[in-house]
Amino acid sequence: QGADPALPDRRPRLTVLSGPSGVGKSTVVAHLRTVHPDVWLSVSATTRKPRPGEQHGVQYYFVDDDEFDKLVANGELLEWAEFAGNRYGTPRAAVLDKLGAGEPVLLEIDLQGARLVRESMPEARLVFLAPPSWEELVRRLTGRGTESPEVIEERLAAARVELAAEAEFDMTLVNTSVEAVARELLALMEVD
Ligand code: 5GP
Repeated sequence: QGADPALPDRRPRLTVLSGPSGVGKSTVVAHLRTVHPDVWLSVSATTRKPRPGEQHGVQYYFVDDDEFDKLVANGELLEWAEFAGNRYGTPRAAVLDKLGAGEPVLLEIDLQGARLVRESMPEARLVFLAPPSWEELVRRLTGRGTESPEVIEERLAAARVELAAEAEFDMTLVNTSVEAVARELLALMEVD
């Protein structure tokens, strides 16, 4: 639209949203889905069991270990990582199709996955979702009140390491409000 067809489209079309666990990545993405259903979001494969309300093909493709092994062996995943005892991976073909058609693509993946995408697709824009403060992240990670002090301590130690990953990212969005972050992401992706 109005662009010089002789000039290549240099807009980074692949946006990766990542950040520490508990920061609210999936809430942001769920909100983005409701305000902008046209934005294409990659649906990951996972060996995790569905939570109540989750549907196959919507939040995830829920697969068993053998199926996941096959996806890996056949090179069907752009990246994959193990997180909290389950495996998660981004199906390659759908992402490449969309990018090939010049459409924006959003991935919501963990930090290990973001690093792998950085290596295989250096043109990707990596967005770090940061908590408004350390205290807020502690509150979210301990909020459920069901974990033992040892488990909480482990999670907090992991979160401290995860926060340091911010330096590897192209930019940071602070999760002050789900609506604001979703808006900022859409603007970044140049979706109107
Ligand atoms: P959950 O089980 O809470 O839905 O997700 C756990 C973690 O896995 C989150 O940090 C989420 O971003 C990450 N995740 C979801 N899909 C993928 C994926 O395809 N690849 C990677 N590397 N991480 C993912």
